[in-house]
Amino acid sequence: MDAGSQLRNIAYLSIGSNIDDREEHLKQAVKRIGDLELVSIDQVSSVYETEPVGYTEQGPFLNMAIKIRTDLSAESLLQKTQEIENSGGRKREIRWGPRTIDLDILLFNEENITLEQLTVPHPRMLERAFVLIPLQEIAPGIELSNGKPIEQYIEELTGKEGVHKWKSFCGEDVFGHFES
Ligand code: ATP
Ligand code: MG
Ligand code: MG
Repeated sequence: MDAGSQLRNIAYLSIGSNIDDREEHLKQAVKRIGDLELVSIDQVSSVYETEPVGYTEQGPFLNMAIKIRTDLSAESLLQKTQEIENSGGRKREIRWGPRTIDLDILLFNEENITLEQLTVPHPRMLERAFVLIPLQEIAPGIELSNGKPIEQYIEELTGKEGVHKWKSFCGEDVFGHFES
């Protein structure tokens, strides 16, 4: 048995970037998450290019989703992902504005978490094609709110046409080696 499969919690994360070398930011984020103690990366989606939503006066995003296993608590995971955002030069200026890296926790096991700093499932994920489309690639059939499968949420979404597969996950050459 490899180390990753003994880690108890399963979490799905969404990663986005729309400044400078977006692909490099995604790669760095994935690498740093994989390097965290008590975390192993299980699956990595393709990279999608998406038109910005919310604050639209900014360049297109690259987005992806990953599945991890971890013995960190959800709060510790948030702390670690925020450190990774900050080390990548993330500045919080405009809400939903341009960013080097955004790392959001989408799901943590099947838990509902409502803390001041952390809400899981991510409160806006169900309305976001740029989140659900990469997530569906690595978690087909997963049941979200009300036991409804992710595919049904995607079907009902508007804005899907703004999300395009940009680069398929190409294995070790792109994102390094993961134990699975
Ligand atoms: P959105 O949350 O709508 O995607 P955003 O990702 O741009 O917007 P951030 O500036 O990255 O927002 O984060 C704002 C705050 O959201 C963070 O300080 C964090 O404490 C909080 N937060 C609450 N729930 C989550 C979650 N599930 N994942 C990441 N951050 C969260
Ligand atoms: Mg976000
Ligand atoms: Mg965020």
